Amino acid sequence: MPGDFPTIPRPILLKKPTNPVQSIGLPDIPRLTRKKSSYILPGIIEFSNYCVRNCLYCGLRRDNRLLTRYRIAPEEILAAARQARDEGYWRIMLQSGEDPAYTVDVLAGLVQRIKEKLDMAVTLSLGDHSRDDYRRLRDVGANRYLLKHETADPALFARLRPGTTLERRLLT
Ligand code: SF4
Repeated sequence: MPGDFPTIPRPILLKKPTNPVQSIGLPDIPRLTRKKSSYILPGIIEFSNYCVRNCLYCGLRRDNRLLTRYRIAPEEILAAARQARDEGYWRIMLQSGEDPAYTVDVLAGLVQRIKEKLDMAVTLSLGDHSRDDYRRLRDVGANRYLLKHETADPALFARLRPGTTLERRLLT
């Protein structure tokens, strides 16, 4: 249902950690950017936990019926980004499962508004998209795109991520 975003109220964690070293776990370390002698922490907005994929290792996988699903509307995402900026963040990460409710038009419009209204650096972590989609998002101002890479073994990749292939991931 592109353009329609029923949401379930949920708190968005945007509090600046008092001690970044204690507040992050090892898997979070790529979130950090080393700059001179300090770390820069992005505000992370996880705006949808719907996903069309069924990766065996992931709690967001499509067939996980135990998970309460939510989506956050673009206006709410923008408001959360504004809150993050007001709290001192200048870098934001927008993260979701592979959720077709957020078309590339919706995502591009959102990135454009964050850039124009808030002037924040924007990182996206939205799963696999087409090369044209990546280009479009870059063209409206997205600064980075995070694609997690689980394995370089094609057979294991196909088994862990049903319906996808390592070759296709690498081609796009
Ligand atoms: S595509 Fe990402 S969010 Fe979706 S099931 Fe796979 S690992 Fe989880």
